[in-house]
Amino acid sequence: MRSIHPLPDTLVSQIAAGEVVERPASVVKEIVENALDAGARAIDVALEQGGIQRIRVADDGAGIAADDLTWALARHATSKIASLADLESVVSLGFRGEALASIASVARLTLTSRHREAHHAFRIGGSGGEHSAPEPAAHAQGTTVEVADLYFNTPARRKFLKSEATEFAHCEAVVERAALSRPDVAFSLRHNGRVVRHWPQATLERRLEAVLSAEFARSMRAVDSGGTSPRLTGFAGAPSFSRAGRDLQFVYVNGRFVRDKLLAHAAREAYRDLMHGDRHPAYALHLHIDPRAVDVNVHPAKIEVRFRDGRGVHQFVYHALAKALAASAGEAPAPVVSPVVSSLVSSLVSSTVSPLFSSSAGSATGASISPIAASRMTGMFDTAGGGGPASPPQYYPGAQAALGVAQPRAAYASFFADAAPRPALPPADHADAHPLGFALAQLHGVYILAQNAAGLVLVDMHAAHERIVYEKMKRALDSNDVPVQKLLVPAVFSAGRLEVAAAEEHREALAAMGFDLAPLSPTSLAVRSVPSVLAGGDLVELARGLLRDMMEYGAAHVAEEQRDELLSTMACHGAVRANRALSVPEMNALLREMEDTERSGQCNHGRPTWYQMSLQDLDKLFLRGR
Ligand code: ADP
Ligand code: MG
Repeated sequence: MRSIHPLPDTLVSQIAAGEVVERPASVVKEIVENALDAGARAIDVALEQGGIQRIRVADDGAGIAADDLTWALARHATSKIASLADLESVVSLGFRGEALASIASVARLTLTSRHREAHHAFRIGGSGGEHSAPEPAAHAQGTTVEVADLYFNTPARRKFLKSEATEFAHCEAVVERAALSRPDVAFSLRHNGRVVRHWPQATLERRLEAVLSAEFARSMRAVDSGGTSPRLTGFAGAPSFSRAGRDLQFVYVNGRFVRDKLLAHAAREAYRDLMHGDRHPAYALHLHIDPRAVDVNVHPAKIEVRFRDGRGVHQFVYHALAKALAASAGEAPAPVVSPVVSSLVSSLVSSTVSPLFSSSAGSATGASISPIAASRMTGMFDTAGGGGPASPPQYYPGAQAALGVAQPRAAYASFFADAAPRPALPPADHADAHPLGFALAQLHGVYILAQNAAGLVLVDMHAAHERIVYEKMKRALDSNDVPVQKLLVPAVFSAGRLEVAAAEEHREALAAMGFDLAPLSPTSLAVRSVPSVLAGGDLVELARGLLRDMMEYGAAHVAEEQRDELLSTMACHGAVRANRALSVPEMNALLREMEDTERSGQCNHGRPTWYQMSLQDLDKLFLRGR
């Protein structure tokens, strides 16, 4: 009595197809890659209903001989490799021999092709694992693949497809990626009969200009470093051309578009000191490397790679990019923290200051504030800081202008829950209740200077507020009770198609976190509600950052371990920015919130949020004996 039996071939194909054919865009990717492997000079992609109804890709490549047509649809049959040695040094985009077979198992596929040495074209049809015999057809040299009714026989999968606009957005992204990898090939993209994109053969510069924007092209720097392997070529946007998201970051390894953490990290490092922390660079980089030094067979969709010498590749890419950017460093925006201030602070900190709560306790004993000094300082900083209670603060004037909508003032009220005016210097017995003391002034828009019983407290206001927002959001999410603030006037912003698609795809996950992002058109989104704790932040940046994270994780559900990443993004955008003037009451409110927040001594990125400098530390610094 046997209970283990082999699965029917069709079912095997359908199961395997799930890995390759996730949605119309993955079909487009596979077929376009086949055309490129066949040496096409022009590729025409035509879609109907976001590719769900029909995908037709025509190329003028080498074509397929009549005898090969049936093999083209067979699983694990390929013309591209024949041995393990071939696999290890593969240079073609395809090599697994399963794309067409997979597609044919879950859709109606027609393959029409004329081989470059043949006088006639032939056609073969495949659907649900069956295929017809090749028959003569009319076709110029090259191949046309037509895929209709995706998932017609696997309704469960069809249900996972999103709206036409969303599926089209993903297809368009796939064609863009291909177009940037091969500027020497002409591409056109049609949707429902309308030409959406058309790129003639061009240089990489012109292709980048056409695909990414003239603005990017004006800013970009040529990258060309290394010998034959590794070598890095392409273009990198000047630091002044920064983006809210990572949508314009294209990395290719031997012509293959990849999402690789190692390479992305190397690039981020190269830009690090040139760009504000929450902005992202744009680039199209091609890494050329001996195929034997990289494994592309990590994932069926081949979007991930593994380097034999990851560290070496990281170093190489970092230096190559840094060198290209050095030429343009002159036009980088001024660093957020002036170097003088930061070096002064760090020298103070490293020589004499005990960081964080725990170690500050000892220095508090015996410290006394010189009354003269204190009153002089208070007076001085009171004027500088603007003093007393002000009208409701305008936290983000720039952002409001960018949104083009009037923000309800109420949205700001929650920013610092406790923004009531407080005396700048409290009576001495308050000191114990408020270990972080009371604000004196703000330094260079970045730091809060506060005075406590022990001496001086320096707070990185953005880092501190970020931590507070993070912890608040985390608690709210944990208790499944995120207080939501509906916006009187939704914040409308223009968004990329992929962003709009992500908003639709992750609607439920977003709602669980307190967000309502509604598509208004194929290229705009409206933020209609946000978690209350974030309401004072830059809502557009926040929404973009969140969508970017969600696109990156690509999951329909936000998994537990990704939640912290999302929280970080939210906290970063929800937190008060550097270079914004805070009033003394606002600063005090922030100090109080820090005292009430767990782990407020470090920001989400592990950097300290504040330092204590005791009076003894300061005395030592000035060689002042007491
Ligand atoms: P792979 O690309 O991994 O070899 P596919 O299933 O994508 O597997 O394609 C199977 C074979 O069909 C390819 O190896 C190639 O010989 C042939 N083929 C597919 N598409 C084309 C095309 N557009 N032009 C020429 N040959 C093609
Ligand atoms: Mg292929």
